[in-house]
Amino acid sequence: MKITRVTQNALQLTRLNFVNCYLVREDDGYTLIDAGLKGSENEILKAAANIPIKRILLTHAHMDHVGSVDAFAAHIPDVILGASKRSIPILKKPPNLSLRPGETGPIRGYPPGIRSEVSLVIQEGDCIGSLLAIDTPGHIHGQLSFLDERDGTLYAGDTFFCFSYLAIPGWTPWYFRLKVNSNLAQARESAIKLLDYPIQRFACGHGRVRGGGRAALEEAIARARL
Ligand SMILES: [Zn+2]
Repeated sequence: MKITRVTQNALQLTRLNFVNCYLVREDDGYTLIDAGLKGSENEILKAAANIPIKRILLTHAHMDHVGSVDAFAAHIPDVILGASKRSIPILKKPPNLSLRPGETGPIRGYPPGIRSEVSLVIQEGDCIGSLLAIDTPGHIHGQLSFLDERDGTLYAGDTFFCFSYLAIPGWTPWYFRLKVNSNLAQARESAIKLLDYPIQRFACGHGRVRGGGRAALEEAIARARL
């Protein structure tokens, strides 16, 4: 697992050159944002060194973000598991992929479900330590992003992909054009909404951490023509 420092507050952990999760330092230990692919737990624990992982916050329910959650719960029985309310049925095993009134879908990307119970139900505007939760659905229903208010880093899950440039999924470079978005228009709306936040850099589920702040976000939105 490759370890890259994001800021003085966080590390990016990359598996198979492709799947990122993040250790964010708080006063009481680490918050792990997403839990990577299945089998990542030992390498994540090694990267955390002797600093305890106090909580896991899930951006969304896809397999490359929740794969090691159950193994973590076995290693660290008192770890807090946080996710959005909308993600909870999608995180169940087997997942409940039915749509709520007013939603369009289908829910794509074959979420695998987890056995662990969500112990922290997160709503937009909640602060979990230094991290402000923001609803960013579109890629999948219930997706959250987390803004570290100390340094302006947005942990965005798959709200963006960061190969070559910051891109909303659906408007990525030709070599990474996965059809995994549940609702393209909503993914674009979520990116527009993020213009209201003081974001300096984007730490996404896939690709490098990208700087550029608001200008990078405006470019990503401009590229996303419906
Ligand atoms: Zn995803």
